[in-house]
Amino acid sequence: MAPLSLFQSYAVPLMSFQGNESDPCQLCEAAEVTVRFYEDEECWIAECESCGVPMVVWKRHGQNPLDTTVDSMLAKLRLVGDEYYGGREYFIDRKMRQIPDHFHAHARIAPSWLRELKPKSN
Ligand SMILES: [Zn+2]
Ligand SMILES: [Zn+2]
Repeated sequence: MAPLSLFQSYAVPLMSFQGNESDPCQLCEAAEVTVRFYEDEECWIAECESCGVPMVVWKRHGQNPLDTTVDSMLAKLRLVGDEYYGGREYFIDRKMRQIPDHFHAHARIAPSWLRELKPKSN
């Protein structure tokens, strides 16, 4: 019995170490697992698990990046979106419905009614 109880007293602190005191948000957690289209020190871009479209996520947790940071993140999202949609029209959706306190934006395919409003280019 002695070796077992010795093991248990050792194992308990190791397991409680796994507990999440800081309670990270979904986007901060996703940063560790999601396969990316693009990544740099500012943001990462990956397919959103719930929407299935490209999504840019700021690497810092917060809802108000500087305007210049927003501009550069959205520019990168457009580069990925151009390739992802292969010439089909899409739009940048900055509404943060599910996780309002961590900046992210989706590149969504434009609804057909929206495409019909725009003049044809050819
Ligand atoms: Zn989404
Ligand atoms: Zn976060």
